Amino acid sequence: MMPVPKLLIATNNPHKLEEFGEILAGLPVTLTSPQAEGINLDPDETGSTFEENAIIKALAFAAASGLPTLADDSGLEIDALAGEPGIYSARYQNTAKDDHPGRCRIVLDKLADVPWPDRSARFRCVVAVATPEGLVGTVSGAVEGFINYNIRGENGFGYDPIFYSPDFGQNLAEVSAEEKHRISHRGRAGRAAVPLIKQVFNL
Ligand code: IMP
Repeated sequence: MMPVPKLLIATNNPHKLEEFGEILAGLPVTLTSPQAEGINLDPDETGSTFEENAIIKALAFAAASGLPTLADDSGLEIDALAGEPGIYSARYQNTAKDDHPGRCRIVLDKLADVPWPDRSARFRCVVAVATPEGLVGTVSGAVEGFINYNIRGENGFGYDPIFYSPDFGQNLAEVSAEEKHRISHRGRAGRAAVPLIKQVFNL
């Protein structure tokens, strides 16, 4: 029997790893992580777009692991803040890596006087697929919503507790993982990446 091929998910963020596992569950490939492969790498995200940063990560992890690799770069764009935090979402205003609640509070403070119609925002995700030989391609996904007035919900991660989804009439942190993936930026980009993954493995 042919061994099941391995796809490296190039992230050190356990939440993202879990989400890609759920989104790509139907594929006949085994998803692996940098940690499981013994790879300790945190490439500088020097790009000025989500796409450039996703490509930097995919190429770096594919070269280091020798495995076909999927990387994403994602973030929150708030219209009233001219698209911030954008590519700086993970470390907005020099917050610590795991301080997701702190970042949510910073956003709420910045929007304290902003009325509902002007609180529009979106999550964006670009996925890059690479092999050790080079880049295979990129795809993207987005989900539109509003920054709610308060932190609510226990699910998801990052800015999910302040991101109101008109599709559900709730914050993203209040819906199940399955519901989130149906509409989320990562769900959309992950599903759009399936043909690229199939191309890599001749599926
Ligand atoms: P990256 O690891 O550079 O792609 O950073 C992405 C950052 O954007 C995360 O650390 C979160 O702060 C935010 N983010 C991305 N996707 C989501 C999501 O699905 N929900 C909430 N926040 C997200």
